[in-house]
Amino acid sequence: MLNTGTDSKCRLCQQFDETIDHTISACPILAKEQYIKRHDGVCAQIHFNIRKETGVQLDKKHWYEYFPKSVTGQGGNVTILWNQQVQTDRIISNNKPGIIIRDNEKRTYMLIDAAISGDRNVIKKEAEKILKYKDLTIEIQHMWNVKTKVILVIIGATGTISGNHEVKELQKTAILGTAHILRKVLT
Ligand SMILES: [Zn+2]
Repeated sequence: MLNTGTDSKCRLCQQFDETIDHTISACPILAKEQYIKRHDGVCAQIHFNIRKETGVQLDKKHWYEYFPKSVTGQGGNVTILWNQQVQTDRIISNNKPGIIIRDNEKRTYMLIDAAISGDRNVIKKEAEKILKYKDLTIEIQHMWNVKTKVILVIIGATGTISGNHEVKELQKTAILGTAHILRKVLT
């Protein structure tokens, strides 16, 4: 971790300097699994909170014991999709936001996703994600004549946050995920 000038490349990817920023948010090796786990943890918590808020009786008391089902609420007005690809006529590469809330009555699609980025890149990451889902929202509006909204929760790996969210708990989850990654890499 400390740059000694002799061997400062990341011990995992050996491509980039091993800075804290690199390890907690930019290493291609960790991106394959560890960052995804951290991201899914934050999304699972959002999913849990959404369901709790809609008044659903959940069989788990805490979000961390809870694993979202791919589809919940079928048959009702509001369906929540977890990690599902949206089937579109046109090929769209970014078609799988963490959570989709589909309201058949109000005819709305809400795409929700979280991202954990290096703390200095929170704003950049938000812009990136907005762009990422632009094609998908246009396509959804076009195919089903519904209103779409994208909600992003961007959290810096050590807790910086963008926007105005109810996020203390989400921050904690991101930070715990980061601590887990650091422990794994550094020991
Ligand atoms: Zn690396």
